[in-house]
Amino acid sequence: MIDEMSRLENAELDRYQALLAEERASLAAKLEEMGYGNAGDIGLEYDDNFADSSQVTAEKSETETLVSQLRSALLEVNEALVRIEQGTYGICQVCGGEISPQRLEALPTVKQCINCASLHIKKIGK
Ligand SMILES: [Zn+2]
Repeated sequence: MIDEMSRLENAELDRYQALLAEERASLAAKLEEMGYGNAGDIGLEYDDNFADSSQVTAEKSETETLVSQLRSALLEVNEALVRIEQGTYGICQVCGGEISPQRLEALPTVKQCINCASLHIKKIGK
């Protein structure tokens, strides 16, 4: 159980919410610029009739990489906003402990406390 004392202050939550909303808007704007406006609808459908020279293919894959990075970032931001609404923001999804404010400050979409994150990093060998 999370007692009231360990919950983030409402003012803090509002600040993160604003920060995340801003991030979401900027990610959505970038996707829009690239012609992927409906950021909520995942799907990298290219027209098969689109020119398929190898150069275009290379550009296409760079674009796809960037788009998928932007989309996963957007997804993280959306998830963080959902956690704010559900009152689980700032709580480690692994151990249920509190994520330090400094960590949230640096990485507002973070889902794990520093301990769990470093264990995870070791496990996947990054
Ligand atoms: Zn943890």
